[in-house]
Amino acid sequence: MSERAQSKLEAKRELLDQIDSNILELLAQRFLRVKEVAEIKLDSGEAIRNPNREHEMLRRLSLEAKELGLSDLYVTKLYQRILEESVKIQEYQVLAQLKGKQTLAIKKVGYQGIESSYSSMACNEFFDLRGEATSQVGYSSFAAIAEDVAKGNLDYGVLPIENNITGPLNEVYDLLIRNQVAIVGELEYHVKHCLVAKKQIDLQSVERVYSHPQALMQCSDLIGLMGKAQPIDANDTADSAKQIAASDRDYDVAIASEEAALRYNLEILKKNIANKSNNNTRFVVIAKNQELGDDRVRTKVSLQVSTGGDSNLLLDVLAMVRSKGFSLGTLVSRPHPHKNQETVYLLDLRVTNHSTWLKTLDELRSMLPYVRVLGAYPDHEEKHLNLNTLSKAEEPALQPAEKSQKIDYKNTLPCPKELGLDKKPYKLSSRISKQEPTVLQIGNCKLGGQHKAIIAGPCSVESRQQIMDVAAQVARLGGGILRGGCFKPRTSPYAFQGLGYEGLQLLREAGDRYNLPIVTEVMHPEDIKPVAELADMIQVGARNMQNFSLLKEAGKVDCPIMLKRGLMASIDEWLSAAEYLLAHGNGQVLLCERGIRTFETATRNTLDLSAVPVLKERTHLPVIIDPSHASGTWRYIPDLSIASMAVGAHGIMVEVHPEPEKALSDGPQALVYPIFEDLMRNVQQYL
Ligand code: PEP
Ligand code: MN
Repeated sequence: MSERAQSKLEAKRELLDQIDSNILELLAQRFLRVKEVAEIKLDSGEAIRNPNREHEMLRRLSLEAKELGLSDLYVTKLYQRILEESVKIQEYQVLAQLKGKQTLAIKKVGYQGIESSYSSMACNEFFDLRGEATSQVGYSSFAAIAEDVAKGNLDYGVLPIENNITGPLNEVYDLLIRNQVAIVGELEYHVKHCLVAKKQIDLQSVERVYSHPQALMQCSDLIGLMGKAQPIDANDTADSAKQIAASDRDYDVAIASEEAALRYNLEILKKNIANKSNNNTRFVVIAKNQELGDDRVRTKVSLQVSTGGDSNLLLDVLAMVRSKGFSLGTLVSRPHPHKNQETVYLLDLRVTNHSTWLKTLDELRSMLPYVRVLGAYPDHEEKHLNLNTLSKAEEPALQPAEKSQKIDYKNTLPCPKELGLDKKPYKLSSRISKQEPTVLQIGNCKLGGQHKAIIAGPCSVESRQQIMDVAAQVARLGGGILRGGCFKPRTSPYAFQGLGYEGLQLLREAGDRYNLPIVTEVMHPEDIKPVAELADMIQVGARNMQNFSLLKEAGKVDCPIMLKRGLMASIDEWLSAAEYLLAHGNGQVLLCERGIRTFETATRNTLDLSAVPVLKERTHLPVIIDPSHASGTWRYIPDLSIASMAVGAHGIMVEVHPEPEKALSDGPQALVYPIFEDLMRNVQQYL
């Protein structure tokens, strides 16, 4: 770079640094004001959370963002994060007030590893937020931390308890069972593993990879791809970085945080190397005694229970807590520490408020032979962030029309026998066996019963840019699920066949980036399992509705299946195909009407709208409509979408493309963004 360019660049960077300092300064001011607001709320006894104000604020900010030429999606996400942080600060203030002045003393906290290990960073984050001064000590094992907390040598201990890639940490659960300690807080930490080394080397030349066993497991895919690399256990991630820095072997590397790489002056070979792009670890903070709770604080309760060998008791307990409006967080079972035949269950309940919880505790104790409350503490699990608020707030321009008055026909449905459902060849998918509507959980989106959603996206995933672009629009306009074909069923063998797994990876990235669950079609039984691991829902296409080998495989995975109606299938044949999925164990089935073959040639297929009310009588499964494949012409799709929602479908699926004339498949039926936006505006009232 020329000297002139260099100095220009440096001047710009200085400006950027100045802007960042200003942003930080403002953020610090904001959090100070948040604390002052909390003081007023504490005096007046007002609730900490005010969802209406939060919603209004997000709306206002996303409007302002748009005016400034910023992405409203990005600004909304950023502010959701800031709001979450503000609420946490206020909740901790409530708790600090309950505890009185003792919080001023410096607390001794133990964490596993050395400085810059994930445990140490989580520890800093947690106590910063609580506003407590601490002195922190690194320990070499989780067990030593739990023991020192139980003995009173430490005020607090920070322990990882669950990771979204490797699951629960059994060792830590067992320590909670064996030691007299209480959980007083939790924190979800976004772990960003990097591959670090003394100098830049080719990944294929790596000889050994050092790290904590958990980190090695979380990055097993990359280690597998590195040819001869041997994984080797270390005490913690930061220690593995320290060892590499001290070693004279250039081809040994470590998995550690960016902070650890900086601290030990190491090069980063690759960032974000975990098997899943979102790698979160939930930490719990333990103390010798429980802390007080308050109704103004969102509360989670952790319990250890025994059923005295009668595991059915657990079902009764779950039904009881559900009837109180509580929801279940993690449920883990561990062998009893001294009774050979027995199991200990550890469960987290998200309770409505602290006083209801205390009343429920007595009821629990009357049902179970043993109940230990491990802790009642502020519920700060991020995966429960309300994503619906996010997508709604993103599009303030879309004011839903007045909700039309609807008469509830549910009670007028004829009884299953009257309809002759007892004589049909399908049973599990019939209302004979289940009257309540099935509600599917597709990623963060619910579909079925009262829950409706719009699925949108391109016919085929064609490139990173194309799918990212469409995903941004789908998220912005309040779509619930992103579609994109990767394995394409084309009538002609010469037509574009899809990008396969490469396309699926792109679709996953787009879904993750815009917080949208993804759906894609599978044609081959062998692809069901691997696709189920990446996609949030699998589509069985019209041409494969009666491909029984495919249905049997799809029936075996724990992933929602969207079963499209066959081109020539009657409604009963379609439900019999769904029966294959249910009979093989997969009850998560979404039916999709996409038009059938008739003598009419004006449209690509004939959309059978009446399938919806017929299905509502015959099945508990949710049903959506795909007006794109039904009509084949983009001009018909907006009106057919309204008709689909009006007839009672649980949603629609439409094809959208940034440049339909250049689409590699189904261009004539793809919607351009302005038409899609208009369509979304018109279906709002039915969602
Ligand atoms: C599709 O949705 O991409 C598709 C090919 O649809 P169908 O199976 O209904 O033709
Ligand atoms: Mn298509």
